[in-house]
Amino acid sequence: MAGRPAHKRSAKSAAARPVFPFTAIVGQEEMKLALLLNVVAPSVGGVLVTGHRGTGKTTAVRSLAELLPPLTSARGCAYNCDPSDEDSLCDDCAARLASGVGLGRERRPVPVVELPLGATEDRVCGTIDLGRALREGVKAFEPGLLARANRGFLYIDEVNLLEDHLVDLLLDVAATGRNRVEREGVSAEHPARFRLVGSANPEEGELRPQLVDRFGLCVAVETERDLERRVLIVENRESFDEDPAAFNTARESEQSRLRRRLVRAASRFAGVKVPRAVLRQIAELCHRLGVDGHRGEITVARAARALAAFEGRDVVTAGDVRPPCRAERGRQGRARRGREDARRASLGGRAQTRSIDDGQP
Ligand SMILES: [Zn+2]
Repeated sequence: MAGRPAHKRSAKSAAARPVFPFTAIVGQEEMKLALLLNVVAPSVGGVLVTGHRGTGKTTAVRSLAELLPPLTSARGCAYNCDPSDEDSLCDDCAARLASGVGLGRERRPVPVVELPLGATEDRVCGTIDLGRALREGVKAFEPGLLARANRGFLYIDEVNLLEDHLVDLLLDVAATGRNRVEREGVSAEHPARFRLVGSANPEEGELRPQLVDRFGLCVAVETERDLERRVLIVENRESFDEDPAAFNTARESEQSRLRRRLVRAASRFAGVKVPRAVLRQIAELCHRLGVDGHRGEITVARAARALAAFEGRDVVTAGDVRPPCRAERGRQGRARRGREDARRASLGGRAQTRSIDDGQP
């Protein structure tokens, strides 16, 4: 136990913990694509992934960070401030810059921050030490999870079980890119631009339509039904657990290829055009589904542009258009009701035995 301080040791082991590689995730193509489109263009607006436990949602989100080039951050900044973006610096960096002290630079991995279900608002947003602020006249702000998530991903497992006020707060911060904390006239503010990824098991708690509408993309994941792929999932997991370093080395060329493709797509995205006819098709789709406001159309158009960019094209086609979240939710509702009807119908019969390989829900 003697020697280096404990916090150094734990920080090192956390950084060194191997992550299951994204390209080794079998199936779940819709979910993987939705996550990748958010890497290509953060403005796509996050992903809501619905489905049962054990379908690889958390693994996929954690593995995303490995696909992104490291961030260049202001040295020592608690908010991962981008030193070349002087308009969105935190107060500390802004003060350092104003006083003529340089910001310095350091490379950091893209943060993927997990927000645990029981987290308090203080833990999420950070807290102001009012006593110290009044006594010493300094901004005594203790950063929270939103600070760590700046310029990365914020992942909430079972977002439908999170308290409503916390969800609303997160969605507001995600939309504005700033987190502001106020306590009795003392306030603190910092940049908080993150891509929000939520997972939800709709059978465990209701998904509010307002929540669903605020995510850029929604995908449903289901337990893999193909037997060959089920075998491959187990094989991959077992060989990763046995020797993570060797498994990751074997995957490295595929991971690098995907990394390069994402970098190319991200730089192509800004120039991707949506023809008027496709915009019209998007508007009709959102109108038909009764999506309020125009955010739905804008989000659908952005996701379509990100998909075109990912596929190396400069113009969106009708095939790039993915339905807005509301349509996905409607589809899931119908599928769930269908499954419940089938279950009821099969009670008393022996139909359950076919459920694995008949390819039907
Ligand atoms: Zn900063």
